[in-house]
Amino acid sequence: MDIKYVSTRGDKEKVTASQAILRGIAPDGGLYVPENFPKLDKSLEELKGLNYRETAYEVMKLFFTDFTEEELKYCIASAYDEKFDTEEIVPLKEADGLTYLELFHGPTLAFKDMALSILPYLMVTSAKKNGIKEKIIILTATSGDTGKAALAGFSDVEGTGIIVFYPKDGVSPFQKQQMVTEKGRNASVIAIEGNFDDAQNGVKAIFSDKELAAELKEKGYVFSSANSINIGRLVPQIVYYVYAYVKMLKSGGISPGEKIDVCVPTGNFGNILAANFAKEIGLPIERFVCASNTNKVLYDFFKSGTYDRQREFALTISPSMDILISSNLERLIYKLCGSNAAKNAEFMRELSIDGKYTVDEAMMKELRDFEAGFATEDDTLSAIKSVYDKTGYVIDTHTAVAAFVANEYRNKKISNNKIIVAATASPFKFAGSVLKALEGTGADNFNSEWDKIAELEKLSKTKLPKAALAIKDAEVRHKEVCAKDEMKQVVRTKILDGKL
Ligand SMILES: *Cc1c(COP(=O)(O)O)cnc(C)c1O
Repeated sequence: MDIKYVSTRGDKEKVTASQAILRGIAPDGGLYVPENFPKLDKSLEELKGLNYRETAYEVMKLFFTDFTEEELKYCIASAYDEKFDTEEIVPLKEADGLTYLELFHGPTLAFKDMALSILPYLMVTSAKKNGIKEKIIILTATSGDTGKAALAGFSDVEGTGIIVFYPKDGVSPFQKQQMVTEKGRNASVIAIEGNFDDAQNGVKAIFSDKELAAELKEKGYVFSSANSINIGRLVPQIVYYVYAYVKMLKSGGISPGEKIDVCVPTGNFGNILAANFAKEIGLPIERFVCASNTNKVLYDFFKSGTYDRQREFALTISPSMDILISSNLERLIYKLCGSNAAKNAEFMRELSIDGKYTVDEAMMKELRDFEAGFATEDDTLSAIKSVYDKTGYVIDTHTAVAAFVANEYRNKKISNNKIIVAATASPFKFAGSVLKALEGTGADNFNSEWDKIAELEKLSKTKLPKAALAIKDAEVRHKEVCAKDEMKQVVRTKILDGKL
């Protein structure tokens, strides 16, 4: 089956997967969704013998139907290689009755690597297929993890340049060190005086600036996005849910056809939506438990039907989830509308003008397989401590938000399904907060980030991956800071001055 992609806001043009990947966002500001959902063409039993790369091919071939087998296998093999510190790519860990799906074994120690290690290959292949001659400039706003993962993916990739904006005070010391030491000659990293939503809005505004696009095109450049709105990021994230299920099947943890639930620490709604897409292609997932930190805009939405971004923005110890506009939710809203793009576009217009929208009864009913919860800062810390005390397993702050919410959900006894918790970052990446959870004020005895990491290595009886160690004494190469209304100017100058 040939899959075409349509905009969630009604743009009439249907595009191929490769075109959707190149564009990132549709011309009308909507997100690309498959016109129809494909189904897995092998049974889950048949997938049992496959490794991660082979599973990835079985899933991605369903969505990226204009890629040849050779192209897709090349992209997959280039992405999921020794960059990951384990041959399994995504190991499963049982702890305290929950199954943790460890998505943080890539080069930047967070789950963004799962998609961003393949996106550059998908993009360059797409450019070739579509006869694009211009250099592709990747513009990215990051709440911490996307930035480095995108830099790692696109670093020195021929035919591309990358600019990353991050909120100056909104990322962890480790995340910042990862980004400002980036060595790629085609890369630029800039702090903005603002929060993640400011950065994301700035990037969106640059993307929809037709004048700038025309000027740059003439000079040989086109923009694309590595943010999680790109369908080329969403589809690779479906893979690990399929892989995890099959692995549980293989180990006897579940029996054929058994339903499971997933609990995902959520920010931009990409990861949990990928789980939802996995269900669409035939994976027996019953419920999606959406876990938020104190920026609980999604929790409130699932409870009330009103999405209201007008609220105080909190900086938390799970910074990659500090988001008030969850862009990927639009794809779910579109689905809840029965693929009525005009209706979805109206909600999105309300969101940008009034800062909120309310879905109707019928749409709320369609949400029955979603559950939601949130964890306060204290809940998050106590979840880390509790899992460690019971099992010796150390989880990071984002995973802890999900662990807390999964526990609450489990206690409600809505079902007896096994629960997969998406473990989205390595605890080493947020060593300060994790240590505070484990040792309380004892954590204050450690001054540098690296001392904290060393202590954490002892407590967790695991080693910091080599890739992470490399940034320790690396030279800081990116020191630029700009105001949020200067982003466009900065981008234009960098590109025209040939800095990428
Ligand atoms: C990005 C990120 C999240 C949130 O994922 P979304 O797909 O944006 O919902 C959660 N945890 C970590 C560590 C992340 O980097």
